[in-house]
Amino acid sequence: MNLKNNNDRFYSLNNYLKETFGHKIYKVSLDGGFTCPNRDGSISTRGCLFCSDRGSGEFTGERGKSITEQIDEQLEFISNKNEDNNVIAYFQNFTNTYGPIEYLRKIYYEALSHKKVVGIAIATRPDCLNDEVLELLSEINEKFFLWIELGLQTAKDNIAEIINRGYETKCYIDVAKKLNERNIKFVTHMIVGLPHETKDDLIETVNLINDVNSWGIKIHLLYILKKSQLERYYNKNNFKVYERDEYTDIVVDLISRLKPSIVIHRLTGDAKKEDLFLPLWSADKRGVLNEIQKKLKGRNIYQGKEWG
Ligand code: SF4
Repeated sequence: MNLKNNNDRFYSLNNYLKETFGHKIYKVSLDGGFTCPNRDGSISTRGCLFCSDRGSGEFTGERGKSITEQIDEQLEFISNKNEDNNVIAYFQNFTNTYGPIEYLRKIYYEALSHKKVVGIAIATRPDCLNDEVLELLSEINEKFFLWIELGLQTAKDNIAEIINRGYETKCYIDVAKKLNERNIKFVTHMIVGLPHETKDDLIETVNLINDVNSWGIKIHLLYILKKSQLERYYNKNNFKVYERDEYTDIVVDLISRLKPSIVIHRLTGDAKKEDLFLPLWSADKRGVLNEIQKKLKGRNIYQGKEWG
């Protein structure tokens, strides 16, 4: 994709999916009934500082319902806008490879056997991808469309400690290598606005994502939910929360430094308005995305302009 000769200033997931499948593909977000080692006591009981009660999956299907039921229910919501009705089934809540291998096999293949599902996406932590799981993912990857999502959030181990991520960045680098060896696509999540994070830290994170050959990226804004662990931390430590103009400036800079082949899945945060404590401007997701587009054009920035 030659971004300089294209109206698109970055390589979006929409574009990638249209190129790959020939038409728009939606995602249905599923709750596979998992927990997380960073919450169940294996690593910690606190979880990551920003994690919500729903394991960072606020808009997913209902826990307890079967995978097929969840897919069918969500298909009803999108059937008006999606004439082909083909979807990616996205296992989103908590850590979706943290369970017995036979259970993982069962639910992944249940999703893949649905007639409207053209592939699956699986969100997890790099320390929850052992060889057995990688083998299962390789098997699926040979026959179906698959991507994995890794919650890196930051390349900086000192900040990872503040947010209680529970693994070292080296673990992410090692797993990235294993996924690349198996030709398995992976998306890396990073957060802008973590406590005590500097602009240089953000650039370091983007550089790492470029270097490990991540297939995709999700850039999240750190938002604070009411009555959350993060709200209590904020009230005690009063760390900087970005204004909208500052956030969109930073995102534009990060896009400029991002390798052009990396597929951009997300450029902001997505909290339920009624649960949001700060920053309130983030509730206007459309406005934030429009501002990013406007700045990219105004500053003549495109993805990869300052890469390498
Ligand atoms: S790894 Fe994910 S699910 Fe687990 S505590 Fe962190 S954000 Fe929550």
